[in-house]
Formats: sequence, C-alpha cells, structure tokens
Amino acid sequence: MLWVAIIGLVMTVAALALAARRVLFLYKLAVVGPPAPERIEYARNNVGAEVKAQLVEVLGQKKLLKWTPSGVAHFFVMWAFFILLTVYIEAYGAIIQGAITGRANFHIPIIGTWPVLGFLQDFIAVACLLGLVAFTVIRIKNSPKRLGRGSRFSGSHLGGAWLVLFMIFNIIWTLFLARAAAVNTGNFPYESGAFASEAVASILPSSHLLEEIALLLHIGFMLVFLVIVVNSKHLHIFTAPLNVMFSRRPDAMGAAPEMRIDGKVVDFEDEDLDGDRLGRGKIEDTTWKGFLDFYTCTECGRCQSQCPAWNTDKPLSPKMLILDQRDHAFAVAPYLMMSEEQRAHQGQDVLALLEKPLVGEDGVIHPDVLWSCTNCGACVEQCPVDIEHIDHILDMRRYQVMVESNFPSEAGVMVKNLENKGNPWGMSEMKRADWIEELDFEVQLIDEKLGEDVEYLFWVGCAGALEDRAKKTTKAVAELLHIAGVKFAVLGPMEACTGDPARRLGMEFLFNMLAQQNIETLNEAGVKKIVATCPHCFNTLANEYPQLGGTYEVVHHTQLLAKLVDEGKLVPVTPIEEKITYHDPCFLGRHNKVYSQPRDIMAKVPGVKTQEMHRHKDRGFCCGAGGARMWMEERLGKRINTERVDEALTTDPDTISTACPFCLVMLGDSINEKKNSGEAKETLEVVDVSQLLIKSVKGEPVEAS
Ligand code: SF4
Ligand code: SF4
Repeated sequence: MLWVAIIGLVMTVAALALAARRVLFLYKLAVVGPPAPERIEYARNNVGAEVKAQLVEVLGQKKLLKWTPSGVAHFFVMWAFFILLTVYIEAYGAIIQGAITGRANFHIPIIGTWPVLGFLQDFIAVACLLGLVAFTVIRIKNSPKRLGRGSRFSGSHLGGAWLVLFMIFNIIWTLFLARAAAVNTGNFPYESGAFASEAVASILPSSHLLEEIALLLHIGFMLVFLVIVVNSKHLHIFTAPLNVMFSRRPDAMGAAPEMRIDGKVVDFEDEDLDGDRLGRGKIEDTTWKGFLDFYTCTECGRCQSQCPAWNTDKPLSPKMLILDQRDHAFAVAPYLMMSEEQRAHQGQDVLALLEKPLVGEDGVIHPDVLWSCTNCGACVEQCPVDIEHIDHILDMRRYQVMVESNFPSEAGVMVKNLENKGNPWGMSEMKRADWIEELDFEVQLIDEKLGEDVEYLFWVGCAGALEDRAKKTTKAVAELLHIAGVKFAVLGPMEACTGDPARRLGMEFLFNMLAQQNIETLNEAGVKKIVATCPHCFNTLANEYPQLGGTYEVVHHTQLLAKLVDEGKLVPVTPIEEKITYHDPCFLGRHNKVYSQPRDIMAKVPGVKTQEMHRHKDRGFCCGAGGARMWMEERLGKRINTERVDEALTTDPDTISTACPFCLVMLGDSINEKKNSGEAKETLEVVDVSQLLIKSVKGEPVEAS
C-alpha cells in the first residue's frame, strides 16, 4: 500500500498547490478595488441574521427550491459535497493506514462504523447521481440551441457546465467502486447500512489491487475537480456562503446602496470631494464585494429568465452584466496587479485593455444595457447566490451621470425639472394642492407643525398631486381615510419629489439635495407616521431617508386600508361583479414584500373575482417605469408595458388593478393602444385598489384611470 499512499499524497499536494495559487490570484484581484467596510461591519454586528441566512439560503437552499426540479436536484448535489467529505476522510485514512500497517481498514473514530453514516453516505451519493440525471435533462430541455434567447442558459459557458457534471459523475462512480472493493476485501468500516456499496460489491471480484486503484481514482477525480472548480463558475461552491454573508440585508432590495468612495459615504458638502471618483467607471473601481459577485455567479440564468428587459428583446441580461464584467476583470487582472512601472512597459494593446471604460459603445457594458434596467429587482430576487445586480447598475449609472454627464437626453428634462421645480413634470409647486379642491370635505394642509390630533402625514407624491390618473387614487385614499375617521394632513406645496427618479438614474447629488430638503420639512413639522400611495415614495421614505437621518413609520396606502377594512372602519358593501387581475408594483412587492394587503382588500369587496396572472407576487413582471425608465424613451424591443398588458389579457379581465401611480400610467397607456387596435375590450380599465374600495364602500362608480 505504500505506493498508493505516495501517489495519493503527491497528487494531493500538487492539486492543493494549484488550487491555492488560483485562490491567491482571486484574492489579490478582489482587493485591487476600494474597500467595503460596511459589509464586514454589518456581518460582525448581526451574527444572528447571518447565521439564519446561512441556514436558510445556503444549507436550506430556499431560493433554489422555488425552482422545484432543479432546486431539488441542486439540494441533493450540494448536500452530497458535505456528507461525502466523510468518505474522503475514510479514503485518506485508508491509504495512510494501509501504508503504515499494511491494512486499509480505517474508520473515522467514534462514528466511523455506525451503519447510519454508511447508509447516509450511500443515500446521498445515489441522490447525487439522480441529481446529475435531472441536471442533464434540464440542460438539454433548456438548451440555447432549442430555445435560443428564451433559454436561461443562453450566453452561459456551456462546456464548463458539462465538464463539471461529468467530473461529479466520475467522483460518484469511483466512490462506489472504492467502497464496493473495500466491502469485498473486508476493509469496509460498515457492516450494514451501505446498501448501494454492498449491491455493487456483489458483482465485483474481491481484489486488493482493485481497491487500491479505485481509491486512487476516487481521490484523483476529486483533486482534478477541485482544480477545475477554483478555475470555473463552480467556484460558487466556496464563494456562495461568503457572498450570502456579505450581501446587503435583508435582500439587497428596497433602499439603493449609499454611494461611497474608499468605503466612506460620500458627503457632497465636503470641499475635498474628488468628483471624478463618483460611482464606477473602470473595473478596478469595483469593491471586493463586487468581485465576489463575479466569482459567485453560477451562470444559471435565473435572473435573465425573469428580467423584463431581456424578456422584451432588449440587450440587457443581468447575468451577462455580471459575466461581461467578470470576463473583463480576468482579462486585465495580470496587469492590474502590476506596479505602475511594470505597466508602463506594456504594449499598446494592453494599455488599451486597461483603459477600456466599464460603460461605453466600446466599453465592457454597452450603454443600451445600462439604461434598459428598470430596477425591478426580479434578478436580485431570483439569484440563488445573492448577487446584487441593481447595486452594480446604480454604481455604473452614477459614474455615467455625475462624472461623464452621459445619459439618455430625455431624462435630462426630468433632472432639470427636479432641480428647478421639485417635481419631474416641471409644474408649479402651487398646483400640488389642487386635487383638494375637488373633494367635498376639508383636508388639512400643514403650515409649519403637524396638529396634535393628526395621526398620519399623507405623502401625496408628485404623480399623486399632478398627474390626472394618479390624482384619482389620491382622492380615493383621502376620502377613505376621511370615512374611516383617520386624521391626516398633507404638505401641499411644501412637499417635493422624494428624489427616487434622480437616485435611480444615478444622480445621487440631486437625490441628496431633495431628500435633505424633505427631511428638514418633515422633521420641522414633527412628522412621525407617513402614509404614501406611490411605492417609489414609500420605498424612499421608509428605506432610504434613514440613510440621511430621516426616520419615520411609513406605510403604503394598501397596508393602511387593509387594516382599516379589517378593523371594520371601512366596510365594502356594494358588490362589484368584475373579474379583476392584480398587477404587483415592483417597489411595493419585490422591494418591500407587500403582496397580501392589496389582495386582501379586493377579497373583501363583494362580487370581485380575482384571477392571478402567470407572473405575480415575487415573480411579478415590471410595468417598465422603474429605475427612472418612466422618463426615458423605450426604443428597443417590445414595450414592457405592452408585454405586461398582453399577459393581463390572457386572464380576460374586466379590470386590471394595481397600487402604484406609475403602473397606472404605463398599463393605462398600453390598454388605450390595445383598445384602439381592437385587442382589448372598450370597457377594460386599470384602477388603483383604493378606487375599487371606495366604489364598494360608497356605492359610487369607479373613476377609470
Ligand atoms: S432590476 Fe429588473 S430590469 Fe434591471 S436587470 Fe434586474 S431584472 Fe432586469
Ligand atoms: S447572477 Fe445569480 S441568477 Fe443570474 S446567472 Fe448568476 S447565479 Fe444565476
């Protein structure tokens, strides 16, 4: 057995050396960029949340199990890696003990002859084999050759994936060969339990040579696999737990990340602020967390399959956004790690590679890719390894907008309007209270301080105050609060845009300015509780203003109305005999997990029959307006709102309901086009859930949006 031990240990040292060299390279590359101290600080201060994330997401595979067949297959393959570590302890123990004593009958101390362990090892190895069969079928069924752009694997490195499946297969069959051979030579640690190994043993001869060769093959395949893993997308086996640990909690959605330079939050009032370092213009501006995202992407394409931009034939694929950056990072890596002097001696081609902008016509990411994103969060929601696509996109947008002044010209009008008038339409702030005159009851306008008896500040939002369709929601909500006896007040002309469109465009400076102004107004008025009708305002007030010191208890109107209905303060009585399909606004649903309340309200309205669209709740499909896309032309591919309305039409609805002013506008526009072309019935309308509720509570016709 001495020769077995020598070959086994030499192979091991060689493979570990190769793997360690690669890991060192990956580490050095990851730290060329700026630090991300907030990620470490959060993990250190929230050990409980981190442990839970590891248990639920990594060990429990929560996100993957949403995709049932591939999720179950992955669950077993992943657990095989953990459980079969014990088989490797046994294999190394056997070759070392064989070299020393001449008998390879090693067993793990204490638990090593326990039949339950023997059974578990065989069970998980068989399950892993079945998992490999499932993966093979899934890959063939979803092959880009068959489905083209519709395949979630389109754009992924397919050869590498097949190689890894083949290597895992080799590990498993050699495992059974080695264990079965040990059964026959009397070296197997388990007398019972290892059902599959015993079955294989029954068809093999008893041979010490076979046992030794099988052991070496089993160890050898594992070592080759290890080297392949650290050089491929399967690196996620090691990096996924780290990526989950350092992801933005709770789920990298809701608030946009604060903008940082060298790990410090940017202070726009700092006179020494280096304006050229805002956002991310080159790959080396990426933090180690960004690199960890690159290393961790498994190329599974779940993000791509859910992306509204990709699904409407736009060039943006969230998967390719990560992979293109990763490929570029690997291409420039050797030069990034050189000293300035070494770099100066490189040829023109290397210098051109190093100078390649992250975004540009000839850049790593095409501008059409960057500006196609609606920030809907479908990619982040689906990614099983917590990659933060929106953070990448926002950081690149920040550089484009604030350093390069390079963004879709239509959005420039919105920016100017925000700067000059505090709303994206550029309307006078005095018009913000006009809707109140259309009501037949008093609405309190805040002068300076909120009255003692006032419970909520009703944050109306720019659309809710100035856009005709959204104003109907504003009036319905005000009326419902009035009926329910909830005391509320509004800021009227003192309210300015929350800054959401500016922030999602990448204009962090303008967001900061608007947010500071609003926080000052809110704090001076003594506001504690806010109700907002716009999910974008809701998200910004609830999740982003705390970054700037504005902390309030914020609810969306559907949350408050559902509670009032529950408490019997609003009683829907008049039946609405309609079939209604509800469209989840991304910033209410995915970004803030408000899925049930709008549905609860509809369920309480007598006569309403609801019918879900195929893509709903966490898989809801964007209307196309988020990420400041509301203010940009949609020139590429099919319009996202058209795609969504097409899907809604498959449910044959009388009405489409939603809970966001931007969704109202986007879906409404598409419905009007469909009516003109005869694809939708004339009576089809899109309304806010609150409009349905007021209709039922008051027994009045609902004002179509
Ligand atoms: S946020 Fe939405 S639009 Fe943007 S990349 Fe992700 S899925 Fe696509
Ligand atoms: S980013 Fe996440 S969801 Fe998308 S391909 Fe990579 S691992 Fe899969």
